[in-house]
Amino acid sequence: MDAADAGRLWRRIACLGLGSLLLHVGTTLAGQLHSVLPITEKPGLFIIQNGCVLEEMVHINDEVRIRLSNCTAQPGTIDNPIAGRVSRVGWQQSATHQVELRIALVGPECITTKLVDENQDHFLVSIYRCGGGDPATTLNLLSVHGLALAIPVQGMNLEMFIDQSLGYVPTKDLVRDGLPNFGSMRGDWQGRPRLHQGIDIYVDSANVMAAADGTVTQAMTGRYSGRHVKIRHSATVSTVYAHLKRTLVRKGDQVSRGQVIATIDGPTGNAIESQLHFELQVNGKKVDPYHYIKQNPALPIELQEKIRRYEQKLIEAAEIRAQLVR
Ligand SMILES: [Zn+2]
Repeated sequence: MDAADAGRLWRRIACLGLGSLLLHVGTTLAGQLHSVLPITEKPGLFIIQNGCVLEEMVHINDEVRIRLSNCTAQPGTIDNPIAGRVSRVGWQQSATHQVELRIALVGPECITTKLVDENQDHFLVSIYRCGGGDPATTLNLLSVHGLALAIPVQGMNLEMFIDQSLGYVPTKDLVRDGLPNFGSMRGDWQGRPRLHQGIDIYVDSANVMAAADGTVTQAMTGRYSGRHVKIRHSATVSTVYAHLKRTLVRKGDQVSRGQVIATIDGPTGNAIESQLHFELQVNGKKVDPYHYIKQNPALPIELQEKIRRYEQKLIEAAEIRAQLVR
């Protein structure tokens, strides 16, 4: 072995040593992607992880790709994690210590995404729907006694409204929060059963709008309802908005359809999760808005079917809840 050979051999040994050292350090320091959790009320996906580093997010047409470095993961997929927005999310190891997530969006509607490194435990991918499509389906929620009522949450279209009301089963505390539909049980867990006489729309950080022109007849704070507002639209029709954070109107104010009257920011009153409790009163009697929504001529057939599917799911959820209460 001459000097040059010895030099090459030495460099080779050093290289191997350094390589295995790097591999060792990399193995002990690599983060891990644990799971992906769909959240429908924001809506978006929590990427539950520990120590992974966000490299990039690329959003092209109907697919979002997220690359994480210093990361390991067992491959996984979830089908249809967010109805109407995400049809599939999958992740796998794409290189040593590199994980790639692919989020397939429901096309061709306009969807925008935002990635936030929320804390050490998870990243949040928010998935918004922009625009809102046909104004008729966006604005007209229902018609009662000749009065057209708009969706009471700013920027929400009909499908989102359905997904976030009938389509939402509370995950934090199903017993105390109860199911979102009209006629679901409340107070039974305290031995004082009563029926829920409105519908809950699970939203957070949202503006609440007057569903139609009218006069504010109440703007106050209740023990169970948090801040709430009641609007009288005609001699026979009124609406109530509860679990508000801030009200922007006073008793006696005239409001117009679509005017922002309050904000939702976290749960208030006896709500566990952030939500808008929306009530429709006809001739002084609380009625199920979905009774009228289902008669909305602008309701596309796929949304009619969606409502039927959600109603079926709610029957099953009510049975699960009843067992928890017992
Ligand atoms: Zn409610």
